[in-house]
Amino acid sequence: MMQSQMETRVIEVDMPGERSAVYREVAELLRAGSVVALPTETVYGLGADAFCEAAVAEVFAAKERPHFDPLICHLWSAKALKDIADVPAELQELVAKLAEEFWPGPMTLVLPRKACVPDIVTSGLPTVACRVPRHEVMRGVAKALGHPIAAPSANRFGHISPTSAQAVLKELGGRIPLVVDAGACSEGLESTILQPCLDEKGKPAVRLLREGPITRERLRGICRVLKPGKGGPAAENPAAPGQLPSHYAPHKRLILCDPKEEFTPPDPALSYGLITYQGTSPLAAQEGWASVMALSPGSGRLAEAAVRLFAVMRAMDEQEEVQVIVAETLPETGLGCAMMDRLRRAAAERS
Ligand code: AMP
Ligand code: MG
Repeated sequence: MMQSQMETRVIEVDMPGERSAVYREVAELLRAGSVVALPTETVYGLGADAFCEAAVAEVFAAKERPHFDPLICHLWSAKALKDIADVPAELQELVAKLAEEFWPGPMTLVLPRKACVPDIVTSGLPTVACRVPRHEVMRGVAKALGHPIAAPSANRFGHISPTSAQAVLKELGGRIPLVVDAGACSEGLESTILQPCLDEKGKPAVRLLREGPITRERLRGICRVLKPGKGGPAAENPAAPGQLPSHYAPHKRLILCDPKEEFTPPDPALSYGLITYQGTSPLAAQEGWASVMALSPGSGRLAEAAVRLFAVMRAMDEQEEVQVIVAETLPETGLGCAMMDRLRRAAAERS
């Protein structure tokens, strides 16, 4: 059912600090079937008790998210993985290694689900997406609740993900009862999604379903990294549902441009704003931009650019003097791969 307009309350929490009273209050709301926007280190999530179908349905309604797009379950600890997933014997060693290395943190594992996980969470798939977040608030609330928290990003479907409580309010204010505000997210990009599997030689590997803060380079130190569609029988090898060509999109049109090339406006009557990596490129030096915003001014650090990417996209979307957004392409190494994935989808033709 569609959420009617309501007042959205904001609880501010200091980081770090003693917050068990807040965790208990939020867990109580979730237990009563409510949805709550919660911070994680990646982006803000819109959480519901994963075992409460009606609450999970509210998440889909508030976001206007199609039901074919499954949710990630957030666990308070890797110990809770066994409550929702059955890790096949041949993958147990690899899953333990990945969990040891990257949990708590921005890694999601797609694993065979247990029957207790409702269909609405997994879109009816035989698998469930599982993550132990690093952020104390999401983990603390999941622990106080005693159930996993199903939470997609707290934005309207297809829009830019929120990396601050203010961004959540812009996306979902009036549609949800509560946002827990713990300040800006420290990673700024959605989790890396992996599906542990056997490769064609029967060796444990991971299929990279979504690029994210845990880079291919880091994963390769642990096992082979397969592209979706590679390795294993096709029936066991679905692409990640919900990874649609158009996603993470601002309201304005977004065009990608090589920073070394000159930009020729497709319509000279329109005004253009530039999102530049460092602000030092030939493209940034070009005249005529209505606005220029740098992701990592001066130094050009991919980690800083990642943290700021969605906030800068959102700020450019809100600049009145800008009609079209131009974004520099970024180096596709490390975190640059995940950022280019998001930028390509933001630039994709909308259906
Ligand atoms: P979000 O929570 O908005 O970052 O999106 C979660 C994403 O996780 C979905 O769009 C899917 O691509 C992916 N996902 C969740 N559950 C599964 C699953 N069981 N199998 C494959 N991908 C999944
Ligand atoms: Mg999302």
